[in-house]
Formats: sequence, structure tokens, C-alpha cells
Amino acid sequence: MRRKYLTQSLSYPIRLPDVVQADALRLLDVSREVINATVSALWDQLDAFGVRETTFAYKQIMVKISSSNPHGDRQWRCEAEQAGRILRAQAARKKRFALILPTLSQDMILLKTEKQAARKDRKAIKAALVDLSEEHTDGGSAVELQSLIEQSCNFYLKHGRFPKTYEEMQAMPVLKVGILPYAGDDGGTVGQAYRLRLDLEQRCCFFTFRSPDEALSWSPTWTEPQMLLPLPDPVIEHLQAGGVLAPTLREIQEADDTRYAVLDFIVEVPVTEPAEWNQTRRVLGWDWGVRTLVTVTVLDLDGNQMAPPLFLDSGGFDGRQAHTKRHIDRIKSKVAKLEAQRDRFPEKDPRREPMMRKLSVLHREIACCWRKYSARNRDLAHLTANVLLLLADVWGVELIAGESLKSLKTTGHGRSARGRWVRWRNNSQIRGVLWRCLRYKCHLTGIRLEWQQPKGTSHTCPRCGKFANTYASPEHLTAVIDSGAWLSCVACGWNGARDYAASVNIARLGIAFIKQYLVTGRISHPCVFETEKVKNSASYIGAGLALRLPPTSPRGRLIESGKMYINGWIKAVTLHSAFPLETLLRLCG
Ligand SMILES: [Zn+2]
Repeated sequence: MRRKYLTQSLSYPIRLPDVVQADALRLLDVSREVINATVSALWDQLDAFGVRETTFAYKQIMVKISSSNPHGDRQWRCEAEQAGRILRAQAARKKRFALILPTLSQDMILLKTEKQAARKDRKAIKAALVDLSEEHTDGGSAVELQSLIEQSCNFYLKHGRFPKTYEEMQAMPVLKVGILPYAGDDGGTVGQAYRLRLDLEQRCCFFTFRSPDEALSWSPTWTEPQMLLPLPDPVIEHLQAGGVLAPTLREIQEADDTRYAVLDFIVEVPVTEPAEWNQTRRVLGWDWGVRTLVTVTVLDLDGNQMAPPLFLDSGGFDGRQAHTKRHIDRIKSKVAKLEAQRDRFPEKDPRREPMMRKLSVLHREIACCWRKYSARNRDLAHLTANVLLLLADVWGVELIAGESLKSLKTTGHGRSARGRWVRWRNNSQIRGVLWRCLRYKCHLTGIRLEWQQPKGTSHTCPRCGKFANTYASPEHLTAVIDSGAWLSCVACGWNGARDYAASVNIARLGIAFIKQYLVTGRISHPCVFETEKVKNSASYIGAGLALRLPPTSPRGRLIESGKMYINGWIKAVTLHSAFPLETLLRLCG
């Protein structure tokens, strides 16, 4: 059997020295114009970019048109590469639009009433997403499909009807910050747009690039790379095992409009191959919780729990994000008021000036808040993925099982700003980001990742597999609450946090998945109701432990548990577990 050598590329931005910043930004401005002109010229041929005959996007462009502002063939190739990447991404999005187009219906729009303007009906949108048959995917596209449906609804709110085509709804993309992938050039030694020479002993590289001078004329002469860029430690480490790919020159724009150029240094690293399926011994199941961010359990193939459950709580983080979101909402209402004031005066009236000035400050502040907000979301997704992989490593897990993104949770947490944020968190990009992040990190480390059917996982007893009700807490077993945090099984007496039960059930589904695959050689994802396939789980020291585990809310009840803060996220993210604190520290240290 031929072994495929798997690799993964990782990118590290390095800020260019101040002396070349002006040159680099001038180059990026000029190429941005060419890229935008190219995208614009080919926008009506979008479908052609849905078919990939070659890896390089520039080849697809260059058979169709030539540069709007030629200054060297390789320079044009790099610009065409970027234009081609934009068009390919849009073509892929257009294909997904074709999936959601038949589902668009007026039910998704709530008509205008006396009290409220017309708006989107989230429930109807959710229902449409569930119906979109995605049987054979991990649901990773659910988030993208949702954004397309929402974009179509916004179109409806503006025009009184749904868009007929993708292009009708989607404005032609315009690159606002410069980016120039040198992947179109001939490589570091003979490149005609850039040169790159590595010096691993000195832990640096020598780089140079061709750019227009202040009069925008391009020099034809070429010099050896002189500019020394120190390489970050992880890059050096990776370079010892892998190779270097063509870098990308990219512009960064700060919220206060300062801008600078970075070189994305891209290294290719070998990837660990996953164990053969019949070598799989342990499965990690994780549930995307309502009350805790993530709950984790590990089972062996006989359903024995290898360790107590672990809860990753993002309470402090949620608070901070809610605060930022509230701040954005406040600025937005200020903006609305100022706009109304401004619009009392006709265009070009000097009395509009003071409002315009204030508005531009507020817009900058909003942009700054959003950036902070999404950076935190990204960090949280990375942190969560790292914790899952760390636990998988510690317990010798070969398969990570997680619920598919198709389930969009809405339960819990009320109308407060934080409650709204948590709901949003559960339903939107952050889950998608976590899934993508986890998928690529698993790929790097050779651990398998499989999505599971989420249906019924938080209302099924993990020990006997029967339907079980949920309640507010162990003290409130008289009133069944569908979104309750505590699960109690009448049939066998199992008790435990709902998220914990769900994580065990998801691990059970992972086990059933493996067993089925080993027998039939086919990939299929069983549902927790298929009791003939899904084996029951045994508590790792009997039923006693589950009883000792409190629901994750109220938090004051976590008397038995270890508690720790990780990665400097003091009071932002907490791991809860029945482990003693030292064990956790050892795990994460
Ligand atoms: Zn039971």
C-alpha cells in the first residue's frame, strides 16, 4: 500500500521593518487595484470558478484575461492568484446558495406590526436549516447556510421579495486591504516578484520584494535579498521538520486607521497519521453545553468510563463578551440618533459637519469593539480545541466524537444581555470556528474526529439507554423542565448533569460508529435511539460518582471538585472536574 505523505501549512505573520513599510504598502495598493479590476471583469463568469482543474487559481484567471495594469508577468500571476481565490470562494458560496434557495419562504419574515418593524423569524430559519438534508456532512456548513438564509431575508426586508440569483443578493466583493500571495511566483531563489533565503543557523531569513517607487515606476533590476527578518521559534522548529512555502504579503489595518505590512511566513509540516480503525481503544465524547461551554468524558470500547467528566466553564468570558456586545448596542443607538439629527439638514449643508465628525469617531469605536469581540471568540475556540486535544492525549484517545453543528440550541439563560450572548454563542460562528479549529488540529496530531447525531443525546440515560427527563436541579425532581440542567432516569436511577449525560451519550455514539465501521466498512452515524447499535455505558466506579457530581449551576455547589484557571484567562475560563486540583494542574501544565 502506498502511504500518502500528509502535510499541513501553518502561517506566521512577521512585521516588515519600518524602512520598507512605505514600499510594501505602495505595492499592496497597486496590486489591490489590479485584483479588484480582475474580480470585477470576471464577476459575470463566476460559475466557471466552481470547477477546479488546477490547484493554482491564477491559471484559471490568466486563460481568460490579462492584467489591467501590467508590470511583469510574475507580479500579474500573484495578483491573479488572489483574484482567483476570491472568485473560487464566491463560487463555492453560490453553490451553497443553490441549496438554500428552495427553502426561502415568506414564513421566515415576520410582518410589520404596530409595535415592531418587519424582521426575520429565527424559528422558521432554524426549521429550514434542520430540513436541509445534510445527511452526509458534519454540519460544518450549517453556519454558512444560516448566514446565506439570513442574507436572503435581509434582502427581502429591503426589497420586499427574495433574491432570484446569488449575484442579485451578493454585491461584487471588493478587496479593502491589500494582500499579495507570492504563490504565483517561481519560488524564493528565482522569484521575479520576491526572493527569500533561509538561514536556520542565524534563526532568520533574508527577504526582498519588487515594488513601484514613489513615481509608481517599476525598476527592472534585481538585487540579492538584504532585508533580515528574524524567524519566530515555532517557525524554526517546523522548518527543521517541514518545508517553506511561498509567503504572502499582507496589509494590516488598525482601528485608528494606521496601517502596516506583514509577511505571512508559511511553513508546511508533516502530519501524524491516525491509528488504524481496528487499533482504536478509547473515545472522547464532548457536548457543547448550555450551561458550561464544553463537557468531556472518555469511554473505552466496552462503554467503561475511563475518568470523571470534565467541564469547561466560560462564565467570566461570557460576561466580558456580553459587556462588549452591550457596549456596541449602546454606540449603535447613539449613531442612530446622530444620523437622524444630521439628516434634518440637506446634503452639503455645513450644519451636518459636527454630526459627521462624531459619527466617524463612533464608527471607528464600533469597528474596534467588533474586532476585540471576534478575536476573543477565536481565542476561546482555540483554547477549547487545545483542551480537548490535551485530554485526548492524556487518556490515549484515538477518536474524538462531537455533536454535529446541525443542532442549533436555543434553550436557557433568559433575556439578560449575558443570556442573549450565550444563546448567540451557541448558535453561531463560534461553534463553527471551534469545529474547524478542532478538525485541523486533529488532522495535525493524528486523532480522528467524527460528528455524531445530536438528537436525543441530552434526554437519554447514558447507563440504561432509556428516555430520561430533565429537571432544574436534584432538589427539584417534581417539575420536569425540558431545558433543565439535571437529568434523572426513572428506569435505573442514574442521576447527573444533563451536559455530562450528553457527553457520555455522544461517546457511546462514537463507539457504535467504530464498531459498525469495523463490521461493514461503511461510514454511518447511528442515532442514540437505535438501542441495538448503541451500547450502554458503565460508570467508572459505579453509580456513586454521578451522584456526587453537582449540576454545573449553581456553581456554589461544586464542593468536591477541583477548579483551575488556564492559559492566563484568569476568571474567564474554568475547568471543573471531580479530579483533585493537583491532577488537573499536572494535566494542563
Ligand atoms: Zn437509566
